This record gives sequence, structure tokens and C-alpha cells, in this order.
Amino acid sequence: METTNPIRPWRAEIASWVVTPIGQIVFVALFLLSLPLILPFVSFGAWKRSKRQTKRIAQTICVSCGQQLGIEAERIADEKWLKAMQENRKNNPGIRSRIYQLVHAICQNCGAEYRYLEDDDALVIAEAHTTTYP
Ligand SMILES: [Zn+2]
Repeated sequence: METTNPIRPWRAEIASWVVTPIGQIVFVALFLLSLPLILPFVSFGAWKRSKRQTKRIAQTICVSCGQQLGIEAERIADEKWLKAMQENRKNNPGIRSRIYQLVHAICQNCGAEYRYLEDDDALVIAEAHTTTYP
């Protein structure tokens, strides 16, 4: 004999309904219909994070040489990253690498490399030879 809990939380009710074929179709349809509402918020969030990073890099003083990094530092790092990715793709055709950009700013005066920490909104010296997360 099957025993049921007389007091089921509403989440359990919804979860048991979503696993039915009709529930899955309705769930996917609701998700697709909500995409035009979700995507602007997601892209706005990404744009805002990018602006925050650029502002932090532009305001930071290089700990190595004392010069202000400026927006040029981010451009130099992005160019170097793009070049490394193109090189990686050329040397490993057909392989999709999971590589993260760890250098977000390079001082144009002394070449010091910095990594942006999004949670702390801070720049730290990038460790040498770290191109992937462990
Ligand atoms: Zn410097």
C-alpha cells in the first residue's frame, strides 16, 4: 500500500505536474515565451558588468610602475587574448577548448598583467603561465 504525505508542499505539486508530458510541453512553451522578457535583462547585466570592469581598469594605478592603467590596458589584454585564441584554434583544429581569459588588463608602460575579480570589483596581478582554471 502506498502512503502519501497529506501535507504536500506546493513545490512538490508543481514538480510532479511538470514531469508529465503535457507539463513538459507547457513548461518549455512558457520558457520560450518568456525569453523576450529574460534576454534584455541578461544582456543588460552583461553590459553593466563590462562597464564596471572597464571603469575599474581605467581607474587603477599600476603597482609595478605607478602609471594609471587607462582603457588602453584593457584593449591590449583583449587583443593579446584574441591572438592567443586564434593561435590555439589554428594549432588544434576541431577541438573546442574550455579556456578562460585570466588577464583582463596589461599595463602599456611596463607590461604588468592584471586579472579582474568580478565579485570584489578589484584588479590583482595575474599569475604567470595561468591560461586555464584548474
Ligand atoms: Zn605598469
